[in-house]
Amino acid sequence: MRSSERWREGWGTVRAGAEARPSDVGGGATSGDLSCGRCGRACRARELDRHLWCEACIAAARAQASGVGWKVGGVMAAVLAGWIYFAQRPSAMLIGGWIGAVLATFWLGSRAGRELCYGVLRFRHRPR
Ligand SMILES: [Zn+2]
Repeated sequence: MRSSERWREGWGTVRAGAEARPSDVGGGATSGDLSCGRCGRACRARELDRHLWCEACIAAARAQASGVGWKVGGVMAAVLAGWIYFAQRPSAMLIGGWIGAVLATFWLGSRAGRELCYGVLRFRHRPR
């Protein structure tokens, strides 16, 4: 449950940041301001999260990670379905259970893939 908590916390950060969008980015940047660790845009410290990303980059990374996650889940479910179909040769009595296993794999795989991809994206653009 740790990862889903972090996920919600991140969305909250995006929403809070969107409300406080500044009008003077660029012109108002001083030496005390920070730049986003991913896109390099000058931001105030309160607009960046603890990894020094602006809200636009967080949203973009989450969208990208979500897309990758569904693909990972789809591939994992397809592999499992293939294995069940060809190796297990499911009987009609057990087919519901196998379908449930494939769906569970799709769901868990997509979540795991999303979190993993998001972690990789964050790690690659970590503050230097
Ligand atoms: Zn950014």
